[in-house]
Amino acid sequence: MRMLGVLGGMSWTSTESYYRLLNRGVAEQLGGLHSARLLLHSVDFAPIAQAQHEGDWDATLAVLAEAGRGLERGGAEALLLATNTMHKVADELEEACGLPLLHIADATADAIVADGVTRVGLLATAFTMEQDFYTGRLAARGIDVLVPEEEDRGTVHRVIYDELVRDVVRPESRDAYLGVVDRLAQRGADAVILGCTELGLLLGPGDGVLPQYDTTQIHADAGVRFMLG
Ligand code: GLU
Repeated sequence: MRMLGVLGGMSWTSTESYYRLLNRGVAEQLGGLHSARLLLHSVDFAPIAQAQHEGDWDATLAVLAEAGRGLERGGAEALLLATNTMHKVADELEEACGLPLLHIADATADAIVADGVTRVGLLATAFTMEQDFYTGRLAARGIDVLVPEEEDRGTVHRVIYDELVRDVVRPESRDAYLGVVDRLAQRGADAVILGCTELGLLLGPGDGVLPQYDTTQIHADAGVRFMLG
């Protein structure tokens, strides 16, 4: 099995989900007592989140590049950056640590294109919804991405940073998200991307009026394929 380097802690609540999904995926494929061969570097999220909100992406890259180089030295053969938002610096990170990066937006686009879906809503942090690094990558694959209106974007972002990354899951926030999904459906979305790795804690298959693409599950599946490839 090839060794996967996981760069996590952004946040730890989603890295916990990744760890389970990566191991479960390997166990399902190989059976018996098999489990994922991986190296995890889990960062302290507070300085990362602070730098994100200050727009200091170079500071976030410095932390991630150092961690990524450590994974490379430890024997990892590819890098899984376990967050959508930090793919803002994916290209620079890949170059800095010299490991191939399993890009979360590419894996997500593959799943959407394979289903023949062309118009999707996106639930994510404000950085991911409002900047081009993620939506542009999906658009380049022919996917029409709808982001929520401004007030809804604020709600989605706030619930991620004030609740989900702190391991808080509130029914009223789930209801608020379902309202956002309704409005995306009314505007013509055929499916919704859970484009933040904590959103699987809040929403599951069958919640809301649209089919979901859960980026944590999709990205973990890509990690399993790499390990077993
Ligand atoms: N895990 C989240 C994401 O997938 C947000 C936390 C972060 O900013 O890294 O975007």
